[in-house]
Amino acid sequence: MAIKFYNTLTRKIQDFQPLKQGKVKLYTCGPTVYNTAHIGNFRTFLFEDLLKRYLTLRGFKVTHIMNLTDVDDRTINEANRTGEPISELTNKYIKQFNDDLRTLRVQPADHFPRATEHVREMIELVTNLMDSGYAYQAQDGSIFFAIDKYPLYGQLAHIDTNQQRSTERVESDDYSKENPRDFTLWKAWKPEDGEVYWDSPWGRGRPGWHIECSAMATKYLGRHFDIHCGGVDNIFPHHENEIAQSVCGYGGKFVNYWLHSEHLLLGDDKMSKSLGNFYRIAELLREGFTPESLRYVLLTTHYRSKLKFTLDKHHEAQKSIQRIHEIHRRLREFLDDSRGQNNDRLNNELDEFYRHMDNDLDIANGLAVIFDWIRRTNAALDNHELDADAARAGIHFLETIDQLLDILPEDSEVPEKIMVLVAKRTAARRDRDWALADDLRDQLISAGWEVKDTATGPEVHPLK
Ligand code: AMP
Ligand code: ZN
Repeated sequence: MAIKFYNTLTRKIQDFQPLKQGKVKLYTCGPTVYNTAHIGNFRTFLFEDLLKRYLTLRGFKVTHIMNLTDVDDRTINEANRTGEPISELTNKYIKQFNDDLRTLRVQPADHFPRATEHVREMIELVTNLMDSGYAYQAQDGSIFFAIDKYPLYGQLAHIDTNQQRSTERVESDDYSKENPRDFTLWKAWKPEDGEVYWDSPWGRGRPGWHIECSAMATKYLGRHFDIHCGGVDNIFPHHENEIAQSVCGYGGKFVNYWLHSEHLLLGDDKMSKSLGNFYRIAELLREGFTPESLRYVLLTTHYRSKLKFTLDKHHEAQKSIQRIHEIHRRLREFLDDSRGQNNDRLNNELDEFYRHMDNDLDIANGLAVIFDWIRRTNAALDNHELDADAARAGIHFLETIDQLLDILPEDSEVPEKIMVLVAKRTAARRDRDWALADDLRDQLISAGWEVKDTATGPEVHPLK
C-alpha cells in the first residue's frame, strides 16, 4: 500500500509518488535565528523529523535541506536593538538551535544552508524575474513581484486574487492572507540596515525573506523536488510567494507535495515569540521534562491537529514512556539480554502500525496498536505464556518503532531506578523542598551516581 499524505496544494490526501523511485527530496523551512527557538517551532521540526524518519524506515533515501534565515527584517531589528553585529547575533542562535536539535534527538538535515551565503543565487533568481517581466523596480529601488502577472497566484493558500486584485505593495516580509499584495524580492538599503547590504544590479540592498527559500531549495534539491514542509503559518505568504518566484523565475514545476503542521498553542493562542507566550526547551527541562517526554508530547498528536501545551502533559508522557521502557526491559530480561531479531510473529502488529502511519502519519492510532500489544504482552509474561520467539519479535517491534520515537534508553544509559530518583529530586527542587532534594542526592551517591545541575537540566554520571 502506498504512503499517503495530505497535500495543502490540492487539499486532498494523495498517494505519495516520489519523482525518482526510492528517493525523496525534502525541504523544510528552518528557524529565523534572531532568538532561541521555542517549543512551538520544535513541534514543526519534530513533525518533519517524524516524516523523514518514517520515509527512511520505509526504505526511501531522503535528502533533507533545512535553511537558516540569518538575514531578514527580524534579525536586523534584533541586532539593532541589542547593538550586536548581526553575524554575532545569528551565530549565537544557530549554535543554540543545533544544541536544541541534539537535545531533542532531531536527526540533522543533510545541509543547513545560511541565507547570507546564498545571496548570489538570490540575485540570479531576481534577475530572471526582472528579465521575464514578473518583477519591477519601485521608486525607492526595491524590486517587487507583480502578482497579477502570475494567474495561478493564490493556489496554495486558496485565495482568489481576482476578487481582491490589488496594485498595492507590501514591504514587510509577513502579512495576512486577506491582503495579497505585490511583495518584495529585493529590498533597497535603508539607514537602519547599517552594514547589512550586498551590491546588486539594482544597487545596494538585501534579499526579501521569501526569495531566500526559493534560491536555496533549488540550489540543493533542483528546480522540481518532492516535499516542502513548514508550519501552517508558512502557507501564506511565505510558501505562496516561493511558488510564484520559483515557477516564474526558473520555469516548470516546483514542489509536488506541500505538508504543513498545525500550531502548538498555549491557552487558545498560537505559541509565538511576538505574543510572548512561549516555552523554551531549557526551561522545560528545568521543570522536570526529559528530552524523551518533550519529544513524546510534541510528536504523538497528529501533525494536522492543533495541540494545546500544558506543563502537566509531562506526567502523561512519562507514564507512556515508562510503559514502553518497562516492556522492553521485561522482554530483554526474559531473553537474558539477547537482542531483538526480525521474526514473522509480529508482522501483524508492525503491519497495522505501518497501515496507520501510511495514512498521513497517523501516529495516534499507531500508538494505540503499540499500547494494546503492550497490555497483552505484559499479561502473557505475567502468566508465563510467552515464548522466546515471541519475546524476540517483541523486542524487534519495539526497536523498529523506536527508530521513529527515539525514546528507548541507550544500552549504556542510567538504570531506571536511578532515573526515578533523579526525577524525584528535580521535582523536589522545583517545589523548593531542599531537604528532600538533598536526601535524594545522598541516595543517589550511595547508589554510586552523582547528579549535576546544568542549564539544560540535571546530568547524571557514575561516581568516579
Ligand atoms: P520561524 O523561526 O518563526 O521562521 O519559525 C520556524 C518554524 O516554526 C516555521 O516552520 C513555523 O511555521 C513554525 N512555527 C512557529 N510557531 C509555531 C507554533 N506555535 N506551532 C507550530 N509551529 C510553529
Ligand atoms: Zn522558507
